[in-house]
Amino acid sequence: MKIQYWGTAAAEGVPGIFCNCEVCALARREKGRKIRTRSQLLINDDLLVDFGPDTYAHTLKYDYDLSRLAHVLITHPHEDHLYADELTNRLPGFTKNPLVETMIIHGSEDTLSYIRKVSDNNERYKNQKRMLFDIMKPYESRKIGDYIVTPLPAQHGTKTPYVYLIEQGRKSFLVLNDTGRPSYEFYEYLIKRGIVLSAISFDTTYGNENVLVKYGKADHHMGLLDNVAVKGFLDMNGVTDKHTVCIANHFSHQGVDADYDAMCEHAKRYGFIISYDGLEIEI
Ligand SMILES: [Zn+2]
Ligand SMILES: [Zn+2]
Ligand SMILES: [Zn+2]
Repeated sequence: MKIQYWGTAAAEGVPGIFCNCEVCALARREKGRKIRTRSQLLINDDLLVDFGPDTYAHTLKYDYDLSRLAHVLITHPHEDHLYADELTNRLPGFTKNPLVETMIIHGSEDTLSYIRKVSDNNERYKNQKRMLFDIMKPYESRKIGDYIVTPLPAQHGTKTPYVYLIEQGRKSFLVLNDTGRPSYEFYEYLIKRGIVLSAISFDTTYGNENVLVKYGKADHHMGLLDNVAVKGFLDMNGVTDKHTVCIANHFSHQGVDADYDAMCEHAKRYGFIISYDGLEIEI
């Protein structure tokens, strides 16, 4: 399974669109891996996770013809993960001869009702086959293309946010953003499955921080030290092992030591990889 990170930032991007803090000024000056667009990743060449406001620019940067894509997973309806208006451009009248006639958008009920705010007001969405919406239920696995996909409840601000377990043959990838520390039921599901994860992509919005210790709760996002604690618990329960690839992802410019190089220094101690736009990992 190949994972390609198209974007690795939280909502504002790095540099933040209007921000001139130290991290943002450094990113503007040095560019390269310090520049982060909004979070999105592609699995192999046929499963996209999230559809944020940088999607169009990503398809150009990574030379990807989006008309060939049949499946998109949406984690939750925050604006850095779902730019619903853009979907309209796939309808007849805006798009000709797509390589795949129908693109299916998978997500929770409230994610899809967010899209319906756009589609219900547009006659062009009626009786069309260019996009279908698939409501997924938590813990219910579904065959999507070549993958088995299971939505798991995230700890985040929206009604039913998901993170996704994506399996292909013997490979398994847990996309763990956006979320705070997982619930007991979440852990229990993974433990009962008897799965040993090949890779985890963590929510690291707070940078080098232990959000649970500092704020007494971590119910929206995590920091690197929360990631390490989650990994430790998974290790103890056999859900991960020394071969599990751990990627810290979804960075805010406001996180502690959020600069790419500073985060790499911290991550070295734990064997984590710090994501950057364009990172490719084969698991
Ligand atoms: Zn986000
Ligand atoms: Zn900033
Ligand atoms: Zn969010």
